[in-house]
Amino acid sequence: MMRSCSKSPEDHFDFAIVGAGLSGLMLVMALLENEKTSGSRILLLDRSLDDYAPRTWCFWEKEEGRFEDLVEKKWQAADFFSEQEQLRIDLRPYAYKMISGQRFRDKACATIRRHPNVRWVQEMVEGLHPMSELVSISTATEHFTASLVFDSRWQLAALERETGPVLYQQFEGWFIRSQQPVFDAVAARLMDFRMEQKDAVAFCYLLPMDERTALVEYTLFTGSIRPQESLEAAVADYLGRQFPGAGIQVRSKEKGIIPMCDLSITNEGPRVIPIGTAGGCTKPSSGYTFMFVQEHTEQMIAALNKGEWPKDFPHSLPARRGFYDRVLLRILEKYPDKGAGIFFSLFKNNPAVTVLDFMRNASTLQEEMAIFRRLPLFLFLKEAFREMRASVRHRKEIETVV
Ligand SMILES: Cc1cc2nc3c(=O)[nH]c(=O)nc-3n(C[C@H](O)[C@H](O)[C@H](O)COP(=O)(O)OP(=O)(O)OC[C@H]3O[C@@H](n4cnc5c(N)ncnc54)[C@H](O)[C@@H]3O)c2cc1C
Repeated sequence: MMRSCSKSPEDHFDFAIVGAGLSGLMLVMALLENEKTSGSRILLLDRSLDDYAPRTWCFWEKEEGRFEDLVEKKWQAADFFSEQEQLRIDLRPYAYKMISGQRFRDKACATIRRHPNVRWVQEMVEGLHPMSELVSISTATEHFTASLVFDSRWQLAALERETGPVLYQQFEGWFIRSQQPVFDAVAARLMDFRMEQKDAVAFCYLLPMDERTALVEYTLFTGSIRPQESLEAAVADYLGRQFPGAGIQVRSKEKGIIPMCDLSITNEGPRVIPIGTAGGCTKPSSGYTFMFVQEHTEQMIAALNKGEWPKDFPHSLPARRGFYDRVLLRILEKYPDKGAGIFFSLFKNNPAVTVLDFMRNASTLQEEMAIFRRLPLFLFLKEAFREMRASVRHRKEIETVV
């Protein structure tokens, strides 16, 4: 049942942000740094302020970026391994950058502390109720209103309702230190496919900070979530095979499940804007999110400055981007054993800058056609055709319901 709307001015905010994670904190910082919104009353709600699972964010960027001061390490070369071949690619003009989630949060907290116009509340949001002039927000014990709400709530169970192709990017990451200098700190090992590729695309990802310290992650693109212990065993097995006798110690761990699908975005009217993964910022075919959250944040601030309603992220993308993602997901879902070959040849047969532009939605149509011509064409055409048929069927179903 919806409770009556609070009329107390202290409980009304210009903006409410649900979730103090990546997208919520990035947006608060952007609102506070933007002249037109810096003095606004902002409410930041999170179910827990201390219990944010540790994570590291990586992304690629051409120039110095907005969060350059937080970058712990960057690489301008990357390695790929298949069972038969090794490939080192020059990433320039891009650099692959790493930011620690904790440092990002520390920066955001320091910014928020300097602004008394932000109220940070530790409460689980139970409901949002859009009305004509405002949105009512209810938690178990409190009740607020805001003119605009940015919502980053999202649940893994929501994937079961998706109609298109769905995979889970499940991973187990260890920060390790080795007694022997065994890591090549010059290059990020982005995809090492030297492991079984049976029911899921599987690879290791190794980011060396120096010759002795690294983050190593075992990653699956899988149709069903696996017991996390099996991923832990796979990391240990990889380290044992790749660096025997190196004397590796585990310092800390991170793990995660990232949705790989064209997530349906909830539409609760113009006053509730989904952000982060919930707002479509996670790229379906790769799981990369950080750089798209950054882009989305900039778009939302630009809209506010023009007096327009901010929108979810996919609104800004040409339809062909979602189509490419869904076709690749279909292939990975149906033929997981082909994934390694596809990703390896993507980087082997194209200039790195073109592939990275493509993966961050910045390529031209001509570049995209050149990329597709060098991939297993028959497979891509077959699944592209299936995807077109599925979209038509889906549109017809929606029209029938409406
Ligand atoms: C371990 C890990 C590593 C990753 N590495 C990368 C990477 O290298 N590069 C990359 O681009 N992406 C990466 N990702 C994916 C993505 O960037 C992150 O998941 C990112 O945190 C998503 O941001 P978000 O704001 O959508 O969600 P989150 O950062 O998860 O924030 C959501 C917040 O909402 C709060 N919340 C949820 N429900 C409620 C509720 N009902 N009421 C109140 N608060 C609520 C949560 O407590 C949380 O603080 C990684 C993800 C993980 C888990």
